[in-house]
Parts: sequence; C-alpha cells; structure tokens
Amino acid sequence: MDKDCLIKKLDKQIKICKKCYRYKTRNIAISGNGNIFSKIMIIGESPGKEEDLKGEVFVGKSGIILNNLLKKINIKKKEVYITNILKCYKPNAPTTKEISSCINYLKQQLDIIKPKILVCLGKYANNEIFKIFNFPIKKISEIHGKSFSFGKIKIISLYHPAYALHNSNILKILKKDFKKILLF
Ligand code: SF4
Repeated sequence: MDKDCLIKKLDKQIKICKKCYRYKTRNIAISGNGNIFSKIMIIGESPGKEEDLKGEVFVGKSGIILNNLLKKINIKKKEVYITNILKCYKPNAPTTKEISSCINYLKQQLDIIKPKILVCLGKYANNEIFKIFNFPIKKISEIHGKSFSFGKIKIISLYHPAYALHNSNILKILKKDFKKILLF
C-alpha cells in the first residue's frame, strides 16, 4: 500500500477513535493536515476550539502565528505536514492517560510519512518525541532553539505559538528559533 493509502486508512481509524474520553468533547478528530511527502513534520499539542470546529490543525490564533513564522522562512503551511500529539479537542490540558492512548497514532504517522525534520512545538510535543527517540526529557526553556539528531532525523525544539500569544518576548525567541529550521 502506498503512503497516501496508508495515511488515509489511519485517518479513518482516528476519525472514529474512542480510546480516551476526548471523544466526548470533540466535534471531529483531526489527524493532521498538509503534505505527507514533505520532509518537515510540525507537531503541536492538541486541537483548540477553532480547529475542532473547522476540522483542521492550527487555524486559530496560534495558527496565525505559525503561518507568519512559516512565511518568514518562505515555507507555506500546505507544504509541510502538521499534526498534534492528541487528535481531539478538550478544553483542559492533556492527561498522561490521554497521551498514552493517542501516541500510537503519531508513531504510525512517523512510520508512514518518514519526515526528516521534526519541529516540536511546546512541552507536550517535545516530551513525547524525546520519549519516542529515547532522549532524556528536558525543560523546553532549556532546549528551545536546539536541535537533536537521531540517525538522519533532525528534531528541533520550539516554544508553542500559543505561549507567544500574550508574551512578546516568547514571540521574539520563537521567531529567532524558527529560522534554525532552514539550517537543516
Ligand atoms: S484524543 Fe486520540 S486516543 Fe483520544 S479519542 Fe481522540 S484520537 Fe482517540
């Protein structure tokens, strides 16, 4: 089965998933959007309210920031693949149980899409990707802007755009850190 078919098959499973209680608060499960042939995969935390209504990742206020950050490095949102650790909306922060129920979907996406550059936005994405690749987990404040290699895969740790919404210092850091994606 080719990449396109495999990802569509996985998307179908995610759409009807009830493995954690997030299925009760979602409008729609969102597996991810964008180019499955891109070498870049951007990973966030979970869909927000607007994403849940529109059925697309990063379309709310954080999405506007992410779009602007991508534009500044001459990348269009549709050129990269964007997903989240959790595929369903809930107004509260992710729980360990929810993450352990959902993380296998991300692992499958990594297996199918085989990105070369993983852009991890925020602590949840960083922690889970570090766990998958057996790196010791570190605070995002210590590792933002740094990159890590796992064979041919590069992992870059960044703050989540939502954190920059009301914090101009974080936005400045994020803009500076984001440019490092171009170094790969
Ligand atoms: S968050 Fe993940 S595990 Fe939970 S219901 Fe949605 S798709 Fe399933």
